[in-house]
Amino acid sequence: MQINRVFEYYDHKNLEKTLMELKNKYEFLEIGSLGKSIFGKSIPRITLGNGKKNVIYIGAHHGMEWITSALLMQFVHDLCEEYQNGRSVFDVSTHVLFETRKIHIVPMLNPDGIDYAIHGVNEDNVIYNRLIRMNGSTDFSHWQANARGIDLNHNYNSGFEEYKIIERKENIICGATKYSGEYPESEPETRALCNFVRFERPSLALTLHTQGEEIYYTSGEKTSDISLSLAKTLSRLTGYKISFPSGTAKYGGFTDWFIEEFDKPSFTLECGHGENPLPFSDFEKIYSHIKRALFITPILV
Ligand SMILES: [Zn+2]
Repeated sequence: MQINRVFEYYDHKNLEKTLMELKNKYEFLEIGSLGKSIFGKSIPRITLGNGKKNVIYIGAHHGMEWITSALLMQFVHDLCEEYQNGRSVFDVSTHVLFETRKIHIVPMLNPDGIDYAIHGVNEDNVIYNRLIRMNGSTDFSHWQANARGIDLNHNYNSGFEEYKIIERKENIICGATKYSGEYPESEPETRALCNFVRFERPSLALTLHTQGEEIYYTSGEKTSDISLSLAKTLSRLTGYKISFPSGTAKYGGFTDWFIEEFDKPSFTLECGHGENPLPFSDFEKIYSHIKRALFITPILV
């Protein structure tokens, strides 16, 4: 059974609806909230398993990458289903997995940005005129930032000062993409995630973006042998190639912040191939490539 098949897209409303359905079906599913977005939408967090070691999966930093939320929710559904039925997946016993690991999933870090990208912006939005100016048109399908034009994946405390110099040089300002904000963690979405991560201290982080069928495992400055060997495993499991961040992608991202802050492995998975936003019709193909990695990653640490 697949969830979300009826959806042609995956917005915050569909996410909440799916979460309620899953909660009714699987009572062991723990659902919480990291906090709220700028416009007060809950940023849900799902936790599965009771083990000591924990990992975190994060989706949808970026508005037009909403398909990553659906991918993580499909994983939540599949893991719950296999655990409830006492089955093993890819030779991993789901019971052993639940006993020894804890998997935190944040399927939609940027609910406002996702809703802009999918539905556009209503005239009753309190910053409507400003948003139209920032975006340059009423077509928000390529919007990446949060509700007020900060790119969440440049808002972390990693290379932030260096990135400010690039921003000034390239005239990157508040808008659809790439603007880092006034200071690290200035946005409620990034602050909520960082606080959660500082408290839980996961052994590994995996962040889903689109697109490129690539895996990043280093900030360019910092990495470790274990990270490289895990990246190779992820590459084998997904068929995605290992890549290195370049240009603006090198600064202010979650993966790099996590590596520098905790000295633990952290990966960016650029899911799928094509032009963003990837259509929902790509969902099954992408999921078939990354499913094995989602199931196996928790036992790699
Ligand atoms: Zn992205």
